[in-house]
Amino acid sequence: APRTVLISGCSSGIGLELAVQLAHDHRQRYQVVATMRDLGKKGTLEEAAGDALGQTLTVAQLDVCSDESVAQCLSCIQGGEVDVLVNNAGVGLVGPLEGISLAAMQNVFDTNFFGAVRLVRAVLPGMKRRRKGHIVVVSSVMGLQGVVFNEAYAASKFALEGFFESLAVQLLQFNIFITLVEPGPVVTDFEGKLLQQVSTAEFPDTDPDTLHYFRDFYLPTSRELFHSIGQSPQDVAQVIVKVIGSTRPPLRRQTNARYTPLAALKAVDPSGSLYVRATHCLLFRWTRLLNLGLRCLACGCLRFRIWPR
Ligand code: NAD
Repeated sequence: APRTVLISGCSSGIGLELAVQLAHDHRQRYQVVATMRDLGKKGTLEEAAGDALGQTLTVAQLDVCSDESVAQCLSCIQGGEVDVLVNNAGVGLVGPLEGISLAAMQNVFDTNFFGAVRLVRAVLPGMKRRRKGHIVVVSSVMGLQGVVFNEAYAASKFALEGFFESLAVQLLQFNIFITLVEPGPVVTDFEGKLLQQVSTAEFPDTDPDTLHYFRDFYLPTSRELFHSIGQSPQDVAQVIVKVIGSTRPPLRRQTNARYTPLAALKAVDPSGSLYVRATHCLLFRWTRLLNLGLRCLACGCLRFRIWPR
């Protein structure tokens, strides 16, 4: 029988791509329940799903921040059994700490961390009874390493990493696997929404130096990073499809080999200084060169490439 896969946050990005790829599995191994908070946005998914809609893919409402919504969604699944849960829904938050409200940070934790915890608590008793299951969590490389001006977002992903690594130990007794998927930059609505928020945000109570570092150093570096090594949501979804199809899924899976040099800095120097100093240098030294309009030696363009394409 096909495995029932429940995915959160499927109206766009990685969740949408993953739902479509699993639903088109040529061996028809999956019955996908593609969920989203606002069903008014289901058009893009339905179009991308094509023939699979109503066959191997159904769309359902699910707000990961609401107990009622989770209960309602699970009650509509045939037999109530979820074999694979993919915690994908997430929100970002970027900017100087002094200018961001605690409520905004709490919303990030409610969605990214407690949203995943809420879903896992709901499906775990069934998985334990059946002695099988797979919980996939879309974390981030920011769950492994902090990134400047992304403090609350990175913290929410660190929280996921600690929570699910701890849980993985117990769940092996039940033949239930956990996988933390850690993408680097992915070109989805995620970055677009964030940049839009940031461009209109005022960031009150933030001193001019910090605002200058944020606007003139962080933002261009971040754009450059997405532009040069950003992955497509299709590529990330492909990695997740493989993880879901494997018989012994790994606890952690990074998706972007081009990010590996940065990710390796922490492992190489457990004191943490190497990572902090290297990223500081990347941000404040290289960006200055970029702002000065240093010409690229390869093609003479004005954009100096920090990352090879
Ligand atoms: P996205 O914005 O396209 O997708 C996020 C989805 O989560 C959206 O469909 C959104 O509506 C949904 N969502 C938000 N709050 C929700 C809620 N309360 N209930 C249900 N759904 C909700 O962006 P994406 O890049 O596809 O993000 C998917 C995941 O990948 C997120 O967890 C994100 O943190 C992670 N991620 C993204 C990147 C990146 O650079 N885009 C990098 C690493 C990890």
